[in-house]
Amino acid sequence: MPPLKTATLSVISLGCPKTLVDTERALGFLKKTPVRMVDKIEGSDCVLINTCAFIESASQESIDTILNAVRLKKDGSLKKIIVTGCLPQRYGQDLVRELEEVDAFLGTDAYHTLPETLARVLQDERVTQLADTRTLYDELSERSLFTATHTAYLKIAEGCDKKCTFCTIPFIRGGQRSRTIESLVREAEGLAAQGVKELVLVSQNTTSFGFDRGRPELARLLKSLARVPGVRWIRFLYNYPDDFGEEVIEALHEEEALVPYVDLPLQHVSDRILRRMARPMGRAAIEELLQKIRKRVPDVAIRTQFIVGFPGEGEEEFTELCGFLNEWKFERLGLFMFSKEEGTPSARLDGQVSDRVKEERFDRASLLQREVSTGLNARLMGREVLCLVDETAQEKGVYLGRTAWDAPEVDGQVFIHSEEALHPGDFVRVRIEDTLEYDLVGRALRTGSGQA
Ligand code: SF4
Repeated sequence: MPPLKTATLSVISLGCPKTLVDTERALGFLKKTPVRMVDKIEGSDCVLINTCAFIESASQESIDTILNAVRLKKDGSLKKIIVTGCLPQRYGQDLVRELEEVDAFLGTDAYHTLPETLARVLQDERVTQLADTRTLYDELSERSLFTATHTAYLKIAEGCDKKCTFCTIPFIRGGQRSRTIESLVREAEGLAAQGVKELVLVSQNTTSFGFDRGRPELARLLKSLARVPGVRWIRFLYNYPDDFGEEVIEALHEEEALVPYVDLPLQHVSDRILRRMARPMGRAAIEELLQKIRKRVPDVAIRTQFIVGFPGEGEEEFTELCGFLNEWKFERLGLFMFSKEEGTPSARLDGQVSDRVKEERFDRASLLQREVSTGLNARLMGREVLCLVDETAQEKGVYLGRTAWDAPEVDGQVFIHSEEALHPGDFVRVRIEDTLEYDLVGRALRTGSGQA
């Protein structure tokens, strides 16, 4: 490997929190090198673009970002381009051939080669590393956190063994590889020592943690993490419903550090559509699970996700979905239009739905959820809630925070008015004085040490 010289690196991380952890980890490999991070692409020696290619629109965003960097390189305001992550992993040599101006392509298992790749690229070499080694990072891999200092994502596993017919993840990221509980606890302790108070567990399929070792281990992991000193809030995202076991519900019930928040992407609720998606859990079992969670975890916020316009979804199935939304009134909801992804079984299914109908259904379901969310928020009027302060708002004396029912980036915010100065990472009790469709407005009741 040529020696890595002093150089400036700008970074663009696209996609979801799982990709963000990959970016943080990739940059961790540069910590002990003379490379300096800079905010602006223009004028930097190299840009690292960590991409997403989960669905077509994400791939397009990745390609647009790369093409923009190529323009800057041609103008002379950027020297080198490194593209990493899902896009090169998914499209491989086709991408390498098409994007000649890109200096290096690293797949999802090659982040550790970043120092060497950068050194070679700076010496005008072109590098491609798409090997499928299926490595897994551990607590010894350093990370450069991109999130606020009080919140961090913890990636507990890589890949997925399920076979949902619409999903590209298993062939981009491979089968499930869970990290060990010991490794995750050590990483959590390290993060807490850096001031992290909220951990957000992510993976492609969190409820299946441990299944690749032959046993469900999520509940044990959650209980172990709940004992890490300094960590006050823990939430775990992307839970496949079939594997959401009783012991996980009990952990949510028992452990104070586990916030009452369940992320359970259901994708659809019509039995016929669920079968076409190859999702074994039907409507009756889904409702039984939801009932158990609501009963055992009081005041829980359930976040789910639905795909509208899946092949074969007629007006009847869509109406069933809307009725379900109305009946269960999910506190948080993500809606997606079905995206026909090359290489997935659902791309070949009959009954493909036109874009116009998908958009119309998306709008109808969004409107319905807006009414649900407005109604649920209105019930919080006058209530005292614990909030975690994320940042200072532009208006003087106003801060942005979140309740335990809100995950960073995807859910709502609380606009907190406070006479006293608040700081990111403070926990503060807030009385809700106004409610909006998705956000809340309130007044801080007591601050002092920042511990409410
Ligand atoms: S469980 Fe999630 S990541 Fe796995 S195949 Fe299904 S949708 Fe994809």
